[in-house]
Amino acid sequence: MAIEILNPYHVAVAQFDEAAERLGLSQPLRAILRKPKRELIVNFPVRMDNGDVEMFTGYRVQHNINRGPAKGGIRFSPEVSLDEVRALAMWMTWKCAVVSIPFGGAKGGVICDPRKLSSAELERLSRRYATEISILIGPNSDIPAPDMNTNPQIMAWIMDTYSMHSGYSVPAVITGKPLAIGGSEGRLEATARGVQVVTREAMLKLGMQPDACSVVIQGFGNVGSISARLLHELGCKVVGLSDINGGIYNADGINVHRALRYSNEHGSLEGLPDTEAVTNAELLELPCDVLIPAALENQLTGRNASRVKACLIVEAANGPTTPDADHIFTDRGITVVPDIMANAGGVTVSYFEWVQDLQRFFWAEDEINHRLESIMTRAFHAVQRKAEEQETNLRVGAYLLAVARVAEATEIRGVYP
Ligand code: NAD
Repeated sequence: MAIEILNPYHVAVAQFDEAAERLGLSQPLRAILRKPKRELIVNFPVRMDNGDVEMFTGYRVQHNINRGPAKGGIRFSPEVSLDEVRALAMWMTWKCAVVSIPFGGAKGGVICDPRKLSSAELERLSRRYATEISILIGPNSDIPAPDMNTNPQIMAWIMDTYSMHSGYSVPAVITGKPLAIGGSEGRLEATARGVQVVTREAMLKLGMQPDACSVVIQGFGNVGSISARLLHELGCKVVGLSDINGGIYNADGINVHRALRYSNEHGSLEGLPDTEAVTNAELLELPCDVLIPAALENQLTGRNASRVKACLIVEAANGPTTPDADHIFTDRGITVVPDIMANAGGVTVSYFEWVQDLQRFFWAEDEINHRLESIMTRAFHAVQRKAEEQETNLRVGAYLLAVARVAEATEIRGVYP
C-alpha cells in the first residue's frame, strides 16, 4: 500500500492539482498557483522572565494576492512548520474565494508552546514577532487574525506594536481584536456561527432533522466550544467533546453549558461529571450523526476513516481529513463539508471588521450575523450545486469554484512585466 500523504502542504497541492486538472487550467497558471508568492522566516530573541534570552522561529507566508490583500491567522504551537504555514496560506486563498471575499491567502506561525510561557513572555514574543513580520503586514497588504493558541489579547499586542512603529493607531492591520480597539461585534463567534449555518444547510440537504441528530466535536477552543454551544442551540444533542487532554462521551447528551463552565474552571474537559473518558482517537469513531473536527490537521486518515460512524463531517478545523480518508468517505457515501467552506465564517467577519476599521464606522451585531448567514448560505448552495453538476463531492465542488475565481483574477492581471 502506498504511504499516505500527511505533509499538509503536499495535501494542499494535491487538492489544488485535482481541481486544476478538472478545470483544464493552463500549465503556467498551474505553476503560479501551486507555489506561495512570498515566504518569510524570522528567527528572533525573546527575554524570558528569569533573564535568559531564548531564540524562536516564526513564519509568514502569502500564497496569492491577486484578489486582494493577503489575509490569514497566526498560530502559536510546537508543531508549526513552514510546510504547515504554506498549506494554511494556500487554503486561505481558496477560502476567501469560495465566499467571494476580496482577499488573498496568507498564514503565520511561531514554533512555541504557549502553555509554557508566562503572560509577560507571551506578550514579548507576540510583539517581537509582529515587529519581525512588519515588513509584510499592513492594512493594505497583509492582515493577520487569530488561529490556534492566539486570541484577541494577542491581536491587541500586535495591533499596538504595529501602531507604535507607525506613530498612530492602525486598527485595520489585524482582525479578531477586542471591541475596545476596533474589533467587530460577532467576530469571536464568527467561525463557529459559520459552522452552525453550513451544518444546518447540509443537514437539510441530507434530510436530517437537527433535533434528531447527535454531534461529536474534537477541540474545545474558540471554534470547537462555540460550535458546541451553537449546535446545541440548533437542537442537536452533543454526545462527545474533546481537548488536547482527551475526550468525554455521554450517549444521552452532554450539558454544553456545564462543559463550558467546567473547562473554564479546570482548564480542561477531563473529569466532567456524568461523562465517560475516551481518547481523542476513540472520539472520532464514536457513534454519532455529525462529526466536527475543530482542532488540527490529519485527524481523519486512511487508518481510521473506515471506522467513522458519522454520516456528515463538517471540517471546522483546517485540513483535518487526508486525501486517503476523503476517498474512503466518498466511497462510503459520507458527506464532508470541506474546511475552505465550513470554517469561512471567521474570515468573513474578519473582512467585516477590516471594512469597519477602514471606514471608522461600526455595525450592530445583528447586521453582522445577518450578513454572515447570507454569505455562508449562498456559498454553501453554490458549492453544493457545483458538486452536483460535476457529479463530485463538496470538497472538489468548493475547489472548482474557488480555484476558477483565483485563476481568473491571476490571468486577467497577467504576468508582470
Ligand atoms: P484554539 O487554540 O482556540 O483551540 C484549539 C483546541 O484544540 C483546544 O481545545 C485544544 O485543547 C485542542 N487541541 C489541540 N491539540 C489537540 C490534539 N492533539 N487533539 C485534540 N484536541 C487538540 O484554536 P481555534 O481557533 O479554535 O482553531 C481550531 C481549528 O480551527 C484550527 O484548525 C484552526 O486553523 C481552525 N480555524 C480557526 C479559526 C478562528 O477564527 N479561530 C478560523 C478558521 C479556522
